[in-house]
Amino acid sequence: MQTIDLARVPVVDNHCHGVSRDQTFDDLAIWRQCFTESTDPGMARDHVASTAFYRRLIRTLADFLGCEPEERAIFAARTRREGRELTGALLHAANVDTLLLDTGFPPSEEVFPVSELAEIGGCRTGPMLRLEILMESLLAEHHSLEDVKEALVAELHDVRRRGYVALKSIAAYRTGLDIREWSREEAEASFHEYRRVAGAGHARLVHKPLLDTLLHVAFAQAARQEVPVQFHVGYGDADTDLLLGNPLYLRPVLQRPDYHGMPVVLLHECYPYTRQGGYLAAVYENVYLDLSYGIPLLGYGEMLSFTRQALGVAPSSKLMYSSDGIGVPELHWISAIDGRRAIGEALGELVSQGELDLVVAEATGEDVLRANATRLYRL
Ligand SMILES: [Zn+2]
Repeated sequence: MQTIDLARVPVVDNHCHGVSRDQTFDDLAIWRQCFTESTDPGMARDHVASTAFYRRLIRTLADFLGCEPEERAIFAARTRREGRELTGALLHAANVDTLLLDTGFPPSEEVFPVSELAEIGGCRTGPMLRLEILMESLLAEHHSLEDVKEALVAELHDVRRRGYVALKSIAAYRTGLDIREWSREEAEASFHEYRRVAGAGHARLVHKPLLDTLLHVAFAQAARQEVPVQFHVGYGDADTDLLLGNPLYLRPVLQRPDYHGMPVVLLHECYPYTRQGGYLAAVYENVYLDLSYGIPLLGYGEMLSFTRQALGVAPSSKLMYSSDGIGVPELHWISAIDGRRAIGEALGELVSQGELDLVVAEATGEDVLRANATRLYRL
């Protein structure tokens, strides 16, 4: 089988999160916690080390750190490095062109500021605005639903001018991707229920008619400005209902002609709904599929499999690389290594099968790793 060498192509990581300023971990089990979406304490203690992802991470890190491929040796070697220096070394080794950061999580005080991370990594960085966090702060400040909607319009009036490259929604984590249209009365009742729970302060916005109604306000703004909206889809921690994380639920939003200008980015290859996400990218002009190689935390074969599924159904002009790295720089780094390898191998298969020629395959690899995102986010 042919494989396309993409080792030298810099990546635009179209969806990731900040790196923690503090890279010290009291013990191995706490570090392992960075490589699972489970919050059950026994998982990090007893099970994470036996995932295909973790085993590959340890073996790949051994080369980078120059130590034995054994987790205690890896942990000791990374603990000896200064956090900022380790972050810089890993991001440089990953050959990152740009990091697009969801600034909604982790909290900003815990991570390197967006501009500082650019200096550390020798790359460009761009922040994205997480809608639900903005909505919660507006809900704490305003006393009527109409005021909140007006304030949201004002906040989102010129997204790029405020320095953001995209919006991000975690509706899948809160009330599901079946974002509906609610009557004024239903939305008002939901608003009052929220206010009752929140009192004078903040509450988690899990009130469906209210959240859906505010999302529609945001979509109208995004569509007018042609600003991409990223949706968390599929795999996440136990807080997400994976049934309601199926991207097919987005159909009513995708069918609205007035939202046609809003590029919709389905994150995390919608895992395990990659075929469904690829289908949507094939059918709706404004839908793009993100291919994320850090999280979900998968074995290499599974990454190759979703890459094949995506390339098999969606136009390659709709596919974009990401890491979804968060907290530790190892995730941003290993994702770039794995992503280049899986995309190169899947494209090589298409060449062997006579679907592409070599020149087109190389150009496609570069499109998925960098050029498509550069164009979509106007970098
Ligand atoms: Zn994310």
